[in-house]
Amino acid sequence: MNAVPPAFTPAEPTVEPVASAAKPFLDELFETGVLIPSGVDGLYGRSGAFEEVIDRFETLVERHAREDGAVKIHFPPAMPRVNMEKSGYLKSFPQLAGSVHSFMGNDMDHCRLLSAIAEGTDWSQFQQPTDLVLTPAACYPLYPTVAAKGPVPADGLLFDLKSYCFRHEPSKEPTRMQFFRMRENVRIGTAEQVSDFRERWLERGPKLIRSLELPCALDVANDPFFGRGGKLMARNQRDQQLKFELLIPVNSVENPTACLSFNYHQDHFGTLWGMEREDGEKAHSACVGFGLERIALALFRQHGSDVEAWPKSVRKVLWG
Ligand code: AMP
Ligand code: ZN
Repeated sequence: MNAVPPAFTPAEPTVEPVASAAKPFLDELFETGVLIPSGVDGLYGRSGAFEEVIDRFETLVERHAREDGAVKIHFPPAMPRVNMEKSGYLKSFPQLAGSVHSFMGNDMDHCRLLSAIAEGTDWSQFQQPTDLVLTPAACYPLYPTVAAKGPVPADGLLFDLKSYCFRHEPSKEPTRMQFFRMRENVRIGTAEQVSDFRERWLERGPKLIRSLELPCALDVANDPFFGRGGKLMARNQRDQQLKFELLIPVNSVENPTACLSFNYHQDHFGTLWGMEREDGEKAHSACVGFGLERIALALFRQHGSDVEAWPKSVRKVLWG
């Protein structure tokens, strides 16, 4: 049976959110050097201070993960093409997927490639797909790995993951990047183990964010499933409360940004990848994902571009 978690009412913000600024937040981030433009929307360099904030925030998450006994694994930002095909990602989110291509021709093809570049014509025909695609979410490479290791033990499994992820969604909103990092904790086991895990994080997540003096609210959410068929999937996901997000004002107070997500997959990945428990039942799974850039941006938005000038109380939580 699939456990449906209890309904959650959006949490009341306990901290006053920042006022909307007149200047686009992205321009401000470029001017203060927090982000460095590349010429492509959604692809940015990060300042040392930005990276340090992410490092410090991750230490807080990792403390919980360690206490829970999570196994830490960091996958690279690419995964086998065959695993993306099997995962169903291209069915649900073809608009976001990215794949790795490379030149595989001979000298003659190389000449043609260089001529195309010199003439400013399309050179992509000289690139062939490789065995790799870009990882769309930190937990995607995990499930086939777990399935390959044999039955899931009776007390389940818990992982602490991190990956750079790619999603093709270029935007002027700094919170919508094409390459960003996700820290994820993933629980695999019985429906009960998995929903307990998600409920624990639904309590902990907002506490952690409020300790950084950021206003936030939990809400039911859905993924951006593609096309007409996707509408039904999105509605189903909402009706069953399979996804919650923790919203924090970043670009604007009116439209707060999802900075954490709490997903219950039921036995979807268990069935897809053949992850079975010792009793032969398909494993259930859930993940909590921290959008690291979004959380750092929320902090810079709320507390200012100079980390040295952040409230002492916030600095204490992050730097100790
Ligand atoms: P999702 O799998 O869509 O729930 O994403 C997990 C987390 O990653 C979200 O809660 C966001 O914080 C973050 N995230 C998703 N898409 C982006 C993006 N385009 N740019 C930056 N962060 C993102
Ligand atoms: Zn996940």
